[in-house]
Amino acid sequence: QWTGLNELREKYLSFFESKGHLRLKSFPLIPQNDKSLLLINSGMAPMKKYFTGEITPPSKRVTTCQKCIRTPDIERVGKTARHGTYFEMLGNFSFGDYFKHEATAWAWEFCTKVLKLPVDRIWVSIYEDDDQAFDIWTKEVGVSPDRIVRLGKEDNFWEHGTGPCGPCSELYFDRGEEYGCGSPTCGVGCDCDRYVEFWNLVFTQFDSDGKGNYTPLDHPNIDTGMGLERLACIMQGVHNLFEVDTVQNIMKHVSRIANVHYGDSEKTDVSLRVITDHIRSTVFMIGDGVMPSNEGRGYVLRRLLRRAARHGRLLGIHEPFLSEVADTVILENRDAYPELAEKSVLIKKLILVEETSFGKTIDQGLAMLDTAVENLSGDTLSGEDAFKLYDTYGFPLDLTMDILEEKGLKVDEETFDRLMKEQRERARASRKAATAEAWAGTRSVLADCPATVFTGYEGTETTGKVL
Ligand code: ATP
Ligand code: MG
Ligand code: MG
Ligand code: MG
Repeated sequence: QWTGLNELREKYLSFFESKGHLRLKSFPLIPQNDKSLLLINSGMAPMKKYFTGEITPPSKRVTTCQKCIRTPDIERVGKTARHGTYFEMLGNFSFGDYFKHEATAWAWEFCTKVLKLPVDRIWVSIYEDDDQAFDIWTKEVGVSPDRIVRLGKEDNFWEHGTGPCGPCSELYFDRGEEYGCGSPTCGVGCDCDRYVEFWNLVFTQFDSDGKGNYTPLDHPNIDTGMGLERLACIMQGVHNLFEVDTVQNIMKHVSRIANVHYGDSEKTDVSLRVITDHIRSTVFMIGDGVMPSNEGRGYVLRRLLRRAARHGRLLGIHEPFLSEVADTVILENRDAYPELAEKSVLIKKLILVEETSFGKTIDQGLAMLDTAVENLSGDTLSGEDAFKLYDTYGFPLDLTMDILEEKGLKVDEETFDRLMKEQRERARASRKAATAEAWAGTRSVLADCPATVFTGYEGTETTGKVL
């Protein structure tokens, strides 16, 4: 049954409230007091200290809808039906309270009773050695044994170095043959878009010493994650997560500006989806205080904006347009995330500044790249050319690689990295010299400082600062 994204979020959170969970609002995308992670990538990530017991959680049962950024998925965005660099993750968590029995029973109840998903389209995966999960799913929940697939450690065991870890169990939805890859071995776990993983239940029941010893925890935990857009995609019967109601409105805005009709060609559709994704992630990142810079989170932001701008060029857009689309992102999300509305002026201004400055060099850079490709003898662009694109035209390496990949070409990354390193060393040396001179009173250090674009914004990340 068709259900809007906002309604699905509310259904999930209130369902788990009815099961004794405390609803918390999404944590910011910038990890707080956690240097191990650049950006929050799951519902569990900002709650690590509740799991380890370092901090006492406000309740032993918590439910959230968490903003997430996953840049490792960037190459898949727009090409698969199910990956975004930005998405919302619904989750229910137990800190040493309930465990497998309740987590599986409630997941099933939510899917089949609340959402009324057809049982014959749902598949379950478990970790190959987790017989307990098999018994619970089949005997307590009543799932047919032939709907349960056992997968190995890579897919279904959650582990991060040492510490708490455990097996997972995932829920998949079969979207039908028309989405399949046609391979005779296609099934749960296949990388195509037929069987879509939509919910992952992690049973944190062991403590690992990193040497292969797994000690059972006295109070095991539950951590689950369900992609809200993926769920909406299933509930709305649309092809991919960019066609979900609220997300589609953003894509339509891009489509209007470009005067390109969604559905006209796979190539322009990919660009429409990539832009839609990247504008979502960048609006949310800036909303949480990330500022464009040349390193860390700020560089992730810059890369996403530049990639989006380049896909705009592919659609024939030659003027800054992303800050305009940001309006629709804010409009579609302001009820759930009021911080976006509060910071809308800053968000739009920052995007416009970034877009305008890249707009000055992007066309020349693309022309240079075209010429370099025409003159290429092998299949590899030289590190020198890639570095020139970076240094003179502001092309992040992954942007260059993305463009080349479309033509089946690659970059000499080793040389690029060496040139980057050399440049950093030169910059460091000249900074030292400049400071020495300034102190000697011959010139002002301020002359080298970039102009300040924004002031008076609280909670903004300063360039390159790692929290
Ligand atoms: P996949 O195998 O499809 O890449 P995953 O196993 O990496 O997903 P998890 O880490 O288990 O995903 O995250 C929990 C849930 O979050 C997934 O079941 C899915 O619904 C959602 N999710 C994960 N990655 C993305 C993404 N890039 N875009 C949208 N939703 C996602
Ligand atoms: Mg993944
Ligand atoms: Mg997976
Ligand atoms: Mg998973």
